[in-house]
Amino acid sequence: MSSISKYFQDIQEEMVHWRRLIHQYPEPAWCEFGTAAFVAQSLKQWDFTVYMGEELICDERMNLPANESLDKFYTQAMERADLDQEILEKTKGGYTAVAGVIDRGDGPVKVFRFDMDALPVSESRSNEHFPFANNFTSAYNGYMHACGHDVHSAIGLGFAKYLAEHKDNFKGRIILLFQPAEEGLGGMAAVVKHPLFSNVDEAYGFHVWANKEQGEFICGTYGQLASKKFDVTITGKASHAALAPEKGINAMLPAAEIILSLEKLKSEFPRHIRLNVGQMQAGTARNIVCPEAQLKIETRAGDTKTRDQLYSASIKTIEAISKKYACQCKVNLVGEAESAASSVDLAQSIQQMARAAGLFTNCLEGELHNTYSEDFCTLMNHVQNTGGKAVFMGIGASNDSGTHHQTNFDISEEVMWKMASVLANVVS
Ligand SMILES: [Zn+2]
Ligand SMILES: [Zn+2]
Repeated sequence: MSSISKYFQDIQEEMVHWRRLIHQYPEPAWCEFGTAAFVAQSLKQWDFTVYMGEELICDERMNLPANESLDKFYTQAMERADLDQEILEKTKGGYTAVAGVIDRGDGPVKVFRFDMDALPVSESRSNEHFPFANNFTSAYNGYMHACGHDVHSAIGLGFAKYLAEHKDNFKGRIILLFQPAEEGLGGMAAVVKHPLFSNVDEAYGFHVWANKEQGEFICGTYGQLASKKFDVTITGKASHAALAPEKGINAMLPAAEIILSLEKLKSEFPRHIRLNVGQMQAGTARNIVCPEAQLKIETRAGDTKTRDQLYSASIKTIEAISKKYACQCKVNLVGEAESAASSVDLAQSIQQMARAAGLFTNCLEGELHNTYSEDFCTLMNHVQNTGGKAVFMGIGASNDSGTHHQTNFDISEEVMWKMASVLANVVS
């Protein structure tokens, strides 16, 4: 076994400890206060130069939660005895991105991305559920690390520890980016324009997959769907439904017509596009003409250009129908991701390295992933457009429990030392 694999097997227990700690405090997009503070204080302890808080956020934070939610999660993080309060304070208000940088003179700039956000999913309390049976279920009601970002963050910490202890093994600059808000898409857009990411030679991202067998490793993915997620508010006018219905403007009528028209709009686009009105909220009472309707909509497509065309056509439809009913309409973009493809030669070199390391039984060079969107694509495109290379990997981690975003989601922790070994091999 290589010395790298041996190193990560030796610290596997420590990585598992971090994973379970992070799992217990699941924080949704832009509320990753405790997780970010824990990551930052660990990086500082290992002598990384840490960028965090307002200094790292350089663009609009899409879909920032209401102050109430931000305050709730921040207060919960403040109650934790294991966090450095001074570091935690830098995240206040939803500034939850963290980057740790280590410089080793001339050489390539490599970025590694780890996501930290959890989901509004209530965690299973069944004895069959590994985290429950082993006493590390979510301490925050209604929230859960149901996608494995706790595992990603813990792998990132293991990798950071390795780097700190093996400074002579690599040259150049290494940036570990712990990003917020992957799930809603938009966390990456808020940090990607930071000068830290302006001259990147290689960028690496990965995901653990509960729906793929252990032993399977995907060295590069392509075809992630480009997506735009947006909220629409249609404003009409309230009025007594019996005394003066003619004085009101019913906002539900354009909302209903919009839903039907968007359904029809799909047929004008290639079959693989996705357009979904996932939620409608409207009205105040039975006897009041409905003054406001809200729609939550997402569009996805295999390439960024089609996504933009689909988005523009949707907005045009929404505006025209609102106008027809004399309603105001406001569109708020809450998340977006681009389509992207891994750099093939980078994926090939990872495949060679992973095969040589003997970590997996099945190493695929590349895989088409056209059923989900991934916020890493924003960094991937940014790096590729500025002359660098980027790759998104996947590691099979099934332990026969629930799959992603489900209440009984879980993965095999065994994959942690293997994934960390891949990252360490990339810099060595
Ligand atoms: Zn997810
Ligand atoms: Zn995920």
